[in-house]
Amino acid sequence: TKRSGRNGYHFFEASMNVNAHNQLQWLQDLRLALERNEFLLHYQPKYNSPNGPVLGAEALLRWQHPVHGLVGPDEFIGLAERSGLIVPIGAWVLDEACRQMKTWYDIGHEDWKIAVNLSALQFAQIDLIDLVKETLARHDLPARCLTLEVTESTAMHDAESSLKTLQQIADLGVDISIDDFGTGYSSLLYLKRLPANELKIDRGFVRDLSDGNDDAAIISAIVALGRTLNLRIVAEGVETTKQQTFLTSVGCDALQGYLMGRPMPPDKFIEATSNLVKN
Ligand code: C2E
Ligand code: CA
Ligand code: CA
Ligand code: CA
Repeated sequence: TKRSGRNGYHFFEASMNVNAHNQLQWLQDLRLALERNEFLLHYQPKYNSPNGPVLGAEALLRWQHPVHGLVGPDEFIGLAERSGLIVPIGAWVLDEACRQMKTWYDIGHEDWKIAVNLSALQFAQIDLIDLVKETLARHDLPARCLTLEVTESTAMHDAESSLKTLQQIADLGVDISIDDFGTGYSSLLYLKRLPANELKIDRGFVRDLSDGNDDAAIISAIVALGRTLNLRIVAEGVETTKQQTFLTSVGCDALQGYLMGRPMPPDKFIEATSNLVKN
């Protein structure tokens, strides 16, 4: 039976059945993963609509588990959040993503932005602003090359203090992106106050997109709202040319999805994205 309705229940159930690996064991493994250097980042390109150029990439966390192989974030982010380990793991992600972005910057991609996902727990960290500042400085990376992706619920948690933190980060010149847009509960008033530059339409709306259904209308409404709030509008989870055509026609500024490029290791990224431009 389902013992916990909170996020993470999938994790326990799937892992316990498939791997016969108990939750305590996973937690122990997760504790050691940082020092054992088992995390890595894959990068998924974001493209200017309809088909280029590349605007940058989203960094997506992966765990090379010694027994279970490559594990995706849906399998362990919940546990990392409940245990607090997401704070040091998140700091590692930010550092590694900025390090990678700097290598791209140095070969001429000075206009790219690297997007990093933030958890609510990191957000509540008092020194998040210092962490961002120090990480940028350590890699000598301009703030405009970094985007932080936060969900509505992440930002809503302790809304006033989150707004203040976000504003300070935005003041550094870092872009703020509202992730999974449309799945949260923010009021329009709150959205208006968020110092965001970008809005990402949740993959769920894109997935169910076909002519004439509600999702098409919802996406058009989100685009209109984003325009009003002066936000760059990104659609994620784009898998078909039909979706691509629709999203472009309603005015999405940028597209991300398997159609244009899957998340990939950094050594593949430059070649894969420059191939697409040539086509
Ligand atoms: P997200 O931030 O919404 O990231 C997008 C997810 O959609 C990624 O899954 C990506 O691989 C997947 N995706 C991209 N394009 C397509 C597509 O065309 N079709 C489909 N079906 N999926 C697509 P991934 O990498 O498994 O990450 C899942 C979630 O884990 C992320 O959702 C994010 O919430 C979280 N996550 C990933 N990396 C980090 C991290 O470094 N820190 C934190 N706190 N969370 C992370
Ligand atoms: Ca994201
Ligand atoms: Ca998302
Ligand atoms: Ca998500």
